[in-house]
Amino acid sequence: MRAAAGRKKRILIIGAGFSGLAAARQLHGLGHEVQVLEGRQRSGGRIHTSREWADLPLDHGATWIHGVRGNPIMREAAALKARLLETRYEDYVAYQTSGRRFTLAEEQARESLGDQIAKKIRKEQSAGRDVALRDAVEEWIGPGAPADTAGLARFILSSDYEQEYAGSINELSTYWFDSDKSFGGGDKLFAEGYQVVIDYLAQGLDLKTGHTVRAIDWSGPVLRVTTDAAEFTADQVLVTLPLGVLKAGDVAFHPALPDGKKQAIERLGMGVLNKCYLRFPRAFWPEDVDWIEFVPEVHGKWSQWVSFMKAARQPVLLGFNAADEGRAMELLTDGQIVASAMETLRTIYGSKIPEPTGHQITRWANDPFARGSYSFNALGSTPAMRKVLAKPLQNRLFFAGEATSTAHFGTTHGAYLSGIRAAREMDSARSTG
Ligand SMILES: Cc1cc2nc3c(=O)[nH]c(=O)nc-3n(C[C@H](O)[C@H](O)[C@H](O)COP(=O)(O)OP(=O)(O)OC[C@H]3O[C@@H](n4cnc5c(N)ncnc54)[C@H](O)[C@@H]3O)c2cc1C
Repeated sequence: MRAAAGRKKRILIIGAGFSGLAAARQLHGLGHEVQVLEGRQRSGGRIHTSREWADLPLDHGATWIHGVRGNPIMREAAALKARLLETRYEDYVAYQTSGRRFTLAEEQARESLGDQIAKKIRKEQSAGRDVALRDAVEEWIGPGAPADTAGLARFILSSDYEQEYAGSINELSTYWFDSDKSFGGGDKLFAEGYQVVIDYLAQGLDLKTGHTVRAIDWSGPVLRVTTDAAEFTADQVLVTLPLGVLKAGDVAFHPALPDGKKQAIERLGMGVLNKCYLRFPRAFWPEDVDWIEFVPEVHGKWSQWVSFMKAARQPVLLGFNAADEGRAMELLTDGQIVASAMETLRTIYGSKIPEPTGHQITRWANDPFARGSYSFNALGSTPAMRKVLAKPLQNRLFFAGEATSTAHFGTTHGAYLSGIRAAREMDSARSTG
């Protein structure tokens, strides 16, 4: 393959996450001169496999290939001969606030309430009225509902909606939150961690880590990118900064971004999903499940867990906290977070369970290179804003990243596909002066 539009271009890509590297590989393969500038001392961005426990690589960011059928990441996984593991949502066990396991009748009540909530949301969507998700289902969580129904509803809203979209039910748009598309088939994860795909994509690329971009001047045909260490020039620049970083205004654009883009950046939501891995000397929970669910007293607190016993034969539990609870938890110390997680596990499995031998904790909202976990459709935003965010400016400043994907925002495949889309735009673009 050769560069389109007649000539080889000098291209700078800002961010060595999945979208940036997917674009870089494509453009490098077409013969363009590509440099990738990354603020961190590592590549991968919101894909980050920790090697802290030498025998067990663990993902602090993305873990799963969501929906394996037709998912482009499966092609990359096959090309690099990655070993994949499987977890299944069907293999779960659920516990009440008291720690008692759900009875069959309670399982059915949960399913029925879940269906009613989904129906109510669909009804609001067909009525075309947009409110925060919490308001759409207020009757089940408001003061009028019996305490156990309200508790169960809050649990469903947290585990089925907030954990998936990372946005708070106070902010998720009822009309648009689920405007994304998904691939069929189950979920798979990388036995050696998601980083294997990043390392595979990054091979042979000119990647400069430790370069935090401060300013992008796109006023003339030669673009200037200033990092805290140097200045670079290029014919084209691809911006893959996370929505949270764009929101914070950490990078100055000269001239300023047009109003449409500014509005998209302001209105789209940046959600939070955090992880807490706990390693134990032995498993004290059922070994035949992947997911452990708990109806917490405090909305969203430790309501979802993944066991690594079935998939990886390791006595490790991963507890999640999303949205408002995810943000609140970040302010605690590691010791306080582990103590809080252990309180929940003791409620379920009793006071005699062993202490963890190790822990690993993420704080994505406070990460200056992410400022959140992934984007969601907040009340006041529309999917069309993602298209505006993705739109090139004067055929020299281009945009990619999960938040620019209308169909697959918040996912690795969304990030990857946005990088491929941007590479195509950049290759075929002729500067408009
Ligand atoms: C906890 C968590 C769990 C997730 N789970 C899944 C999952 O299971 N499956 C799934 O499909 N998706 C999941 N995701 C979402 C997925 O990780 C992201 O959608 C995807 O990795 C985003 O890629 P990106 O290229 O758009 O952004 P990023 O990976 O964030 O890349 C942007 C890059 O820009 C860099 N950068 C930022 N500021 C600057 C600057 N000023 N100068 C230079 N460089 C800068 C960053 O360091 C980063 O490397 C998860 C995310 C999180 C946080």
